[in-house]
Amino acid sequence: MTTFYVNTVYPTIQGEGAYTGTPVVLVRLQGCGVGCPFCDTKETWPLDESAALPSSDFPDNPPVVSHKFYKFTEKELTTYIKENFPHITWVMITGGEPASQDLPPLIHALHVARKLVLLETSGTAVKGLYTSTRSCASLFGNKDSADWVTVSPKLNMPGQLRIKPQALKAADEIKMVVGKERDLELLDELIETHGLQDKIISLQPISLSKKATELCTRTAIERGWHLSLQTHKFINLP
Ligand code: SF4
Repeated sequence: MTTFYVNTVYPTIQGEGAYTGTPVVLVRLQGCGVGCPFCDTKETWPLDESAALPSSDFPDNPPVVSHKFYKFTEKELTTYIKENFPHITWVMITGGEPASQDLPPLIHALHVARKLVLLETSGTAVKGLYTSTRSCASLFGNKDSADWVTVSPKLNMPGQLRIKPQALKAADEIKMVVGKERDLELLDELIETHGLQDKIISLQPISLSKKATELCTRTAIERGWHLSLQTHKFINLP
């Protein structure tokens, strides 16, 4: 059994990227060293494993982010999701930086439980993207890697972590948070350097500011890219 460090789990509607509108069980894992100044889940950053609480302490109505975190095995977490959210097919694993944890055993267990997995990562870690040859019963085939990988590259952040080429290769979608023209230049460099022209590119205006939204909308139309508007915020969903 593998231990996973879990900040929270709750049901919501995916409001970002290609799966906007899809009901998901959001699993927020603990730990992130990227250090984005605009991060709205800073509580997930520290990962002192000795501070993890047992899964039996996990609250009945968990908040969207917490200063506490809990250790679950893949079996415990899958059972929790199956019992509490039987009608939701997609499980979105996010963080923190989820790909720092050894995700394949969890993804395998979720697939066996007939759940599909959407992984959101900054691209700075690849442990969670590893694909073994072990067989499991995904609805989409026998695999223990995520069914959809969104890499939201965080470039030049204070943590000085580099985007890993393996993460970009595994991506189905590149979702870039954009505040100004320079962010688009960095995205263009990333696409060119790593040959990402065939990926789905989604532009997400930072904090939904008017200026960033206009820039992203104009660029999406010009380039044929997607616009990711954090639609969950329009209806006050976490
Ligand atoms: Fe926050 Fe995500 Fe940036 Fe980590 S990668 S600091 S969790 S926004």
